Amino acid sequence: MTTNAAAIEMVASWLASSRSAVVLTGAGISTESGIPDFRSPGGVWSKYRTVYYDEFLESADARYEYWRQKCEMHREFAYAQPNVGHQVLARWEASGCIRGVITQNIDGLHQIAGSGRVLELHGTARQAACIDCRARYEIGPLVEQFLAQNRVGVTISIDGPKEVQDQFRVFANGTGSYDIVMPKIRELLRRHRTRPVGARVTLTTNQLDIRRIFQHLTEEVGFWEVGFAPVTTAPNRDYAIAEDGFDSMLRQFQALAADFLEAALQGRHHGFSNVKDTLEEIHKGVSKPFPCGAGLGLLGVSTDGDVALCHRFAGSDAHKLGTVRTGIDRLVQIGFLEKHHIADKTDCSQCWARPMCAGGCYHEAHTRYGDTARPNLHYCEWIRAWTDTCLRIYGELSARNPGFLEQFDDKVEHETSQVS
Ligand code: SF4
Repeated sequence: MTTNAAAIEMVASWLASSRSAVVLTGAGISTESGIPDFRSPGGVWSKYRTVYYDEFLESADARYEYWRQKCEMHREFAYAQPNVGHQVLARWEASGCIRGVITQNIDGLHQIAGSGRVLELHGTARQAACIDCRARYEIGPLVEQFLAQNRVGVTISIDGPKEVQDQFRVFANGTGSYDIVMPKIRELLRRHRTRPVGARVTLTTNQLDIRRIFQHLTEEVGFWEVGFAPVTTAPNRDYAIAEDGFDSMLRQFQALAADFLEAALQGRHHGFSNVKDTLEEIHKGVSKPFPCGAGLGLLGVSTDGDVALCHRFAGSDAHKLGTVRTGIDRLVQIGFLEKHHIADKTDCSQCWARPMCAGGCYHEAHTRYGDTARPNLHYCEWIRAWTDTCLRIYGELSARNPGFLEQFDDKVEHETSQVS
């Protein structure tokens, strides 16, 4: 018998002979559920400054900081699922093998797994208590209230109906996420009324029914707008979109853009944000020195606090620009921008779509060519065809309903001043 087996047998015999065993758990039991240990790199204490209770009571700024942290942590806790460790303890309690669980954790996963007698030494992240009357409230609605009251813009990554979403968006235990996230999304859409909430869809080769996805997310779920982006990955991956897939994507984009035009001519809202965003750029006369705001106004933060070019590079040391603690390293940032300016992309110098494209997505270039500075010449035809579609729609709107384009006027001065 190995030492481990002997130890297991010994614990089993203790449990069998005990009449009131309890189990004490700590952060280790939840790391398999994707919740970082508080003290480990990437854990809560490495990322956030502690807001002490007296400070919380005295300062509105401290309360704001506390709730900001709470919202961020909520994202990790809200979608975590119990793992086999939580489930075993729930079964032991049900069978009378243990009396209950004492936990240092605040994630609530023991209760979700089915444990009924749980003593939470440090409280719970799933509820908040009123400091006057001590009433307890579920945290989810409070986070939604915070987002709405502070007019925080929210875009949710979701790929479509259940069969589409669950193909790639799965939890650590392999189960699809649709059934868990959708009720919460619907609740957020119901409560967050101060800013439009958008959806952002990643398209893959088997999930290219764009109209169906759009209809589901707008009409059936209630998103105000939906934007689509093809997955950026190496071309040999089985979910990468091949050339015929890009043709299909373009045809469907054009069909949806035609619907957008019809709605815009009648003064109705249409939530296809890809066309709206491009119309806005055309209206402002944008001539992009860089393909997007990555490394400028758009940055990605990984769970360990590193700041990278954008969300797609979050966690990549090679594309790190700083940390949330030390700020942006300006020399690294300037070096990046100098290397990636459109003036240095000689392949693009004669292209009429250059002011809108500027060489295309850094992440696409990185996965295709291993170099963020390379222009994405493999999808030039697609970009030009899509830009041409949007230019035609802009022309139609200018001639037949110029009032529609006025929605882009008020931001002209502010936003162009950020582009240099
Ligand atoms: S469409 Fe092609 S050539 Fe034109 S700017 Fe984009 S990457 Fe460069």
